[in-house]
Amino acid sequence: MLNKIDHIGIAVRSIEEKIPLYRDVLGLEFVGEESVESQGVRVAFFKLGESMIELLEPLNETGPIAKFLERNGEGIHHLAAGCDDIDAARDAAARGELRLLSDKPLDGAHGKLISFVHPKDTGGVLLEFTQRNDH
Ligand code: ZN
Repeated sequence: MLNKIDHIGIAVRSIEEKIPLYRDVLGLEFVGEESVESQGVRVAFFKLGESMIELLEPLNETGPIAKFLERNGEGIHHLAAGCDDIDAARDAAARGELRLLSDKPLDGAHGKLISFVHPKDTGGVLLEFTQRNDH
């Protein structure tokens, strides 16, 4: 099932502006960045022990991260739990009457499969399931 904190997603207005903070001040290893068109975001990853920090910058004005920034400003956006089998994680969530935000797993960064659970069903936490791609 869910077996680690894969990453914590943090919404930012500019990844470029935040790289010095995470890489130079906090000393985290910069893993890389890429655009995830399906989510309307550009993401950057930094290694933090066994987990990662994911910075999310909106690619447009209408996507979910742009809306989040408008409502809340910069800050923690979601918690991503790693799992071996995303379909099993989705089934378990559905059995617990948690609403999933997509009908099937989506393509996330690094070619991983991801799914989000509605934050209204998890006490205000936007929870992401991430299936590692070594399976
Ligand atoms: Zn994420």
